[in-house]
Amino acid sequence: MGLDPNVVRGDFPILARQVRGKPLVYLDSAATSQKPEAVIEAMSRYYREINANVHRGAYKLSEDATAMFEGTRAKVAAFIGAPEPDGVVYVRNTTEAINLVAYGWARKFLKPGDEVLLTEMEHHSNLVPWHRLAVERGVVLRHIPITDEGRLDLAKLGDVLTKKTRLVSFAHASNVLGTINPVEEIVRAAKSVGALVLVDGAQAVPHMRVDVAALGCDFYAFSAHKMCGPTGVGVLWGRPELLRDMDPFMVGGETILEVFLDHSTFRDPPHRFEPGTPAIAEVAGLAAAIDYLESLGLDAIHAHEEALAAYARKQLSAIPGCVPYGPPTGPRGGVACFTLEPIHPHDLATCLDQDAVCIRAGHHCAQPLMRRLGVGATARASFYVYTSTSDIDRMVESLNRTREFFGCR
Ligand code: PMP
Repeated sequence: MGLDPNVVRGDFPILARQVRGKPLVYLDSAATSQKPEAVIEAMSRYYREINANVHRGAYKLSEDATAMFEGTRAKVAAFIGAPEPDGVVYVRNTTEAINLVAYGWARKFLKPGDEVLLTEMEHHSNLVPWHRLAVERGVVLRHIPITDEGRLDLAKLGDVLTKKTRLVSFAHASNVLGTINPVEEIVRAAKSVGALVLVDGAQAVPHMRVDVAALGCDFYAFSAHKMCGPTGVGVLWGRPELLRDMDPFMVGGETILEVFLDHSTFRDPPHRFEPGTPAIAEVAGLAAAIDYLESLGLDAIHAHEEALAAYARKQLSAIPGCVPYGPPTGPRGGVACFTLEPIHPHDLATCLDQDAVCIRAGHHCAQPLMRRLGVGATARASFYVYTSTSDIDRMVESLNRTREFFGCR
């Protein structure tokens, strides 16, 4: 069954809002998604009915909070096809998840001259942690180039994947181009040289069925706030045998087995990586977000967004001066990135805001990719379960008004 965004919209209170006296058109879901009533209500219910610290109290309230918190770990594992809940580490967001692998695994095990393979389309969150590792550990960074269409140029993989490659880390789906990368194929190549694979799933988990066991990767990172869930909680999934060998990033209460005055010993994963009181209400929100996405169906969500991306590309291409970026056809996600000559993307976003149309403008935390595309910035409209073709029509009307305002012919 297809997904009807006009029905789905009703689940998102914010979408009933007017901005500047006009109905809100929210086209920035790649930055963060809106939240359905079910998620808002789950967090509110947690505070009203269960609120207690987890893993500590010997009383019913704390047991209920712990059951919810650990039950959600199992729910997350099932949602991403992970064989066991212990591979699911709660972190704040994708950025923290990637940093945890860089610190806890790469910093511990990589030697000078070892190589980490990234790509030209990475978000800064999957570049900067490796820059620091390169400086601190003498690790060499290599990058898979992209084609002019915006796909990874896997014909060149042999040039950058070497016997020294210890880790391949890349986005499952690009936040700029919408490209969905062939994870299994890259995993196979990585395994042939004995490298591990970390997948940045920030733009994949919210939008399509992800099965980490089938993908064959070693680590997988994502954020709740892009998948209808709250800010403040994300997930690093890792193969438990790898997590067991990793150093904790931050230490303190909850991470330890025994503490003496002069030393301490650490618990097994995932608790070793979750210092202090965690984001408990947010985990309740994440559980509700997973239930919500499952109720819509991940395949239906993906099909809906792929259709919207195709529609947006067609409508944008009809605007004189508009240059769309990213693969014209699937597999791709619900992102439409474009420039509209000669108007600067920031001016576009400001003018569209006058019509209550929210788009993103800038480098989208992907400056190396912008350089590869030969632009300083782009505009980006990104879609989700509540986006309809009429939202895209509203954006296109507003873009045309903006062209007139700037005197474009
Ligand atoms: N990777 C990708 C591909 C992203 O799109 C984002 C968010 N824009 C991130 C990583 C970082 O996510 P977060 O800000 O939730 O850490």
